[in-house]
Amino acid sequence: MKKIIKRKRVLLKLSGEAMMGSLGYGIDPKINESIAKQVKEISKSGVEVAIVIGGGNIFRGLAAASQGMDRVSADYMGMLATMMNGLALQFALEKEHVTTRVQTAIEMCQLAEPYIRRKAIRHLEKGRVVIFVCGTGNPYFTTDTAAALRAVEINADMILKATKVDGVYTKDPVKYKDAKKIFRLTHMDVIKQNLKIMDLTAVSLCMDNNLPIVVFNIKKEGNLKKAVDGQNIGTVITN
Ligand code: UDP
Repeated sequence: MKKIIKRKRVLLKLSGEAMMGSLGYGIDPKINESIAKQVKEISKSGVEVAIVIGGGNIFRGLAAASQGMDRVSADYMGMLATMMNGLALQFALEKEHVTTRVQTAIEMCQLAEPYIRRKAIRHLEKGRVVIFVCGTGNPYFTTDTAAALRAVEINADMILKATKVDGVYTKDPVKYKDAKKIFRLTHMDVIKQNLKIMDLTAVSLCMDNNLPIVVFNIKKEGNLKKAVDGQNIGTVITN
């Protein structure tokens, strides 16, 4: 009988800001390349990788709505921004010879496949990196919630939440020198203390489905592999 080996399946949440680097707007090609190299490292080691990408480096619905724009239209524009990031990341990954598929929650058949869960899982099983774009496809949500939703749907073992700092701190480590790093938290701690790691809808979904979140710094090359391997480089959030 053929032995079935279950491989680790992870969902990487990349914010638009992660793609922006120090540019202030848009996509930094160097960061894009560095992220692609790190994703390649884990993918080639046999880990199944799905990615949910944000759009905040290009357009945020809430920000536009606060300046008077209709929230729903603004959110759709935000979701379109994630498509741009997704295509940029796909390009960077394929330059590294990583096979990818982009799946979108809003149909754009010239650009990407529509989101089909079973197809996404099949791609992952074949070793392809799947990039989910356009969030959940619904206004009033975030790509953090899309990450939690997709992770649960594809049965991921964990969410890897990429940030610019080495995990969760007692205060902002950029502003305060005495900020202390927190190595472990529960989902409930995050909700009760209103720690702004992911939005509450996303954290609740992870809590209800017993899905661990690892918060780590993607700016340091090699960190993604360490996070997947369970090394103590960030903050681990579990039930
Ligand atoms: N968005 C949305 N529904 C979703 C996901 C995203 O309406 O399911 C919109 C929302 O306007 C948001 C924008 O897309 O501001 C970009 O996503 P997000 O802010 O989550 O990106 P990130 O902060 O990760 O860069």
